[in-house]
Amino acid sequence: MSYTTEKVLSVTHWNERLFSFTCTRPQSFRFTSGMFVMIGLMVDEKPLLRAYSVASPSWDKTLEFYSIYVENGPLTSRLNKIQVGDEVLLGTKPVGTLLMNNLLPGKNLWCLATGTGLAPFMSVIRDPDILEDYDKIIVTHTNRYHSEFAYQDYIKNELPNHEYLGELVREKLVYIPTVTRESRPKFVNGRITELLKQPDFYRLYGLEQLNIHRDRVMICGNPEMVHELSDWFENKGYKMGSASSPGHFVIENAFVDR
Ligand code: FAD
Repeated sequence: MSYTTEKVLSVTHWNERLFSFTCTRPQSFRFTSGMFVMIGLMVDEKPLLRAYSVASPSWDKTLEFYSIYVENGPLTSRLNKIQVGDEVLLGTKPVGTLLMNNLLPGKNLWCLATGTGLAPFMSVIRDPDILEDYDKIIVTHTNRYHSEFAYQDYIKNELPNHEYLGELVREKLVYIPTVTRESRPKFVNGRITELLKQPDFYRLYGLEQLNIHRDRVMICGNPEMVHELSDWFENKGYKMGSASSPGHFVIENAFVDR
């Protein structure tokens, strides 16, 4: 596995289990919004690498990653301690399936995320080509607790005022956070796997119910949610897309259950 060594430029701890960081980006590192890459640390003089979605947009000079902290996790129990100036390893070959080219043309793009599954969509929603191409981009982010909504303030308040993307974002982006284990007034409660079946859910956001002719879907989250939604979409006739055969939806697990 080939990798380069990059410098950490900033670290944000969202809560005790979630953090993100930015690092330098080599000029040769090219990727398409939605891709993931191996990143890691040197541990006992050996590289310890894990798959991570790139959360930053492809036009950015730096790279950003959004991470869980797994207690006793070989990588994240170390990665969560990184500080500005530290070194991280960056694989040289980004890959992935959550790509616009793997989808048939459509009007709306639904990005369905749980947990750190939001990461690839942070890149997708800042891609000017994707913002231009679709009439609406609907991002749902489901977490167990309110404290887990990293990037919420950025998506709601900063991105709509972005110098270049702001206008498209205000016109097209619909951000829907949903929480499963806490309730709060004016906040949608429930799993996305259930909410998508309820007409009221769409009405609340002025959206039409999913339609195979109009809507394209990217799914990234815990393996159970990805599996459940894939089955649901396939039963509705949606075809899973790939590079060789674009379809109505694409999936990626946000992590692998070992
Ligand atoms: P591991 O031994 O890798 O994992 C231990 C256990 O922790 C897993 O079995 C699982 O139950 C749980 N776990 C791992 N990752 C997560 C997670 N993200 N959310 C909830 N539970 C988890 N992780 C990220 O934090 N951000 C990403 O952007 C990201 N992108 C990924 C993209 C792909 C395609 C894949 C396959 C995985 C991705 N992961 C991501 C998971 C990542 O590769 C590691 O598993 C994670 O960093 C934990 O590493 P670890 O060595 O500490 O523990």
